[in-house]
Amino acid sequence: MFTTTIAGSLPKPAWLAEPEKLWAPWRLEGADLDQGKRDAALLWIKIQEDAGIDIVSDGEQFRTHFVHGFLERIDGIDWQRMTEMGIRDNRYVAKVPTVTGPVSRPNPVHSDEVRFTRAHASKGLKCTLPGPMTICDTIADAHYGKRADMAMAFAEILNQEARELEALGADLIQFDEPAFNAFMNDVNEWGVAALERAADGLNCKTAVHICYGYGIQQNIDWKKTLGSEWRQYEQTFPAINASKIDQVSLECANSKVPLSLIRLLKDKAVMVGVIDVASLEIETPEQVLGTIDAALEFVDKERLYPCTNCGLAPLPRGVAEAKLRALGAGAELARGKHAG
Ligand code: ZN
Repeated sequence: MFTTTIAGSLPKPAWLAEPEKLWAPWRLEGADLDQGKRDAALLWIKIQEDAGIDIVSDGEQFRTHFVHGFLERIDGIDWQRMTEMGIRDNRYVAKVPTVTGPVSRPNPVHSDEVRFTRAHASKGLKCTLPGPMTICDTIADAHYGKRADMAMAFAEILNQEARELEALGADLIQFDEPAFNAFMNDVNEWGVAALERAADGLNCKTAVHICYGYGIQQNIDWKKTLGSEWRQYEQTFPAINASKIDQVSLECANSKVPLSLIRLLKDKAVMVGVIDVASLEIETPEQVLGTIDAALEFVDKERLYPCTNCGLAPLPRGVAEAKLRALGAGAELARGKHAG
């Protein structure tokens, strides 16, 4: 009960990449870099397990960017042809690579990493992949012509990757789909279908992480435009609830998402965000319990998975560690209070 997990990313240690910076370049290279990534993943598995996190992740220690880390090994993409485009419905401008031919996956992408983390994680292991819609919103298209078609092509290769990660021992595969909060009509028209294609045939648990993003300035500014209640999920949760995906995340800590929207996920496990990623303030275990209790009004305890609102990557390492401990301790309080 109250199985804990995290959305995904964690800070890189200062010896691996510049701290408190999203998508910071590596500070090592070659074999030192490969070793450094493994050491960092090992460190975070230990810290998560010590904090009482039940389903741990590698904290994205092996990749700089959650989308491009996957795309780097995919054929059909021209990395010399960088295109400047507005992403997440023009919330940011980013320089992105360009799809110039049919996409394919000549070799496994994350297999070595998962073999390594599986060998060291003594509890549940979550593997994260970018979702097809978010990939399509983070890359320029000079080949497919229609975003829905490109998404299905990426869903196909994500499925190949996901099946392999499952075979290597992943207990849960999570697709990160922040774009689901920017293109609500597309989610219903083709986004959920692409997501289901990516998860097709998996026997392990599957999850989708949708969110209002990291606590970075562009997101803080964007959130100011969303009004006093954030109801974007209302438009997409019905289709997600009808999908085959097992778990869905939403932000509940210091968020303007009405918790009553959880009702729209009556057939899903709900990853309830109880840790704010946009604040340096460390939650107390009692605050975490309070958020869990508030969510319990709309979801029964068997379906509630305490989680972080989003990734912790841009935070100072000590803050991220303390927030993980608060998450674990708060869930333990909830177990004590709601046992039986
Ligand atoms: Zn997120």
